[in-house]
Amino acid sequence: MSPSIRLAPRDRVKARLLRLYRALERRYGPQRWWPGRTPYEVALGAVLTQHTAWPSAARAVAALRAAGLLRPRRLAATRAPALARVIRPAGTPRLKARRLLALTRWLLLRAGGRFAPLARLPLGPLRRELLAVQGLGPETTDAILLYAAGRPVFVADAYARRVLARHRLLGRRAGYAEARRVVEAHLPSDPALFNELHALLVAVGKAHCRTRPRCDGCPLRFDLRGRPPAG
Ligand code: SF4
Repeated sequence: MSPSIRLAPRDRVKARLLRLYRALERRYGPQRWWPGRTPYEVALGAVLTQHTAWPSAARAVAALRAAGLLRPRRLAATRAPALARVIRPAGTPRLKARRLLALTRWLLLRAGGRFAPLARLPLGPLRRELLAVQGLGPETTDAILLYAAGRPVFVADAYARRVLARHRLLGRRAGYAEARRVVEAHLPSDPALFNELHALLVAVGKAHCRTRPRCDGCPLRFDLRGRPPAG
């Protein structure tokens, strides 16, 4: 079901973001991200998909499942070389094995291996803690917070930044933190909305807003109002 949203007429950025969101929803329908049977599986997937396409990460997740390693204590008790052999389909397996182990040890120490307790912790300090875990950058951290822990953070990945910059909702040089701040400042603090918006921006980014934009037939063309995309 779509997240419930209300439009505040005085905030023009909010109104535009919501119009873009609705146009994307009409075209692509509910995306229901992130694939994963449990929050722990989702979090491991966020690490495994770093610098690789999702199908490769998904093969590594399936291999972890087959090996019985989608449980934090089991995975934490696995030696890094053995774990690397299991997750080889995701690429850079030795690096990602160390990252999975670091994330899992943090989760065990901080919340007994469960994600539910993370829903009650203050968001800012929790985000800083995760960013301190080996190999977790802002995008992976926010994907874990949003998709595994259900916290209201926007994942301002390259797809999202490209679309928002081309529509002049961001400056051309806006980085990850600025893009995230703009979306979070103007939209309701709603994990379901951030979840769907991110997934829909990825969908339009793959279908239309590529390195060379294909604005003809794009569901967001109306927002350009006859102007070329910025940048
Ligand atoms: S392809 Fe064109 S209309 Fe579509 S999102 Fe990109 S810039 Fe906007």
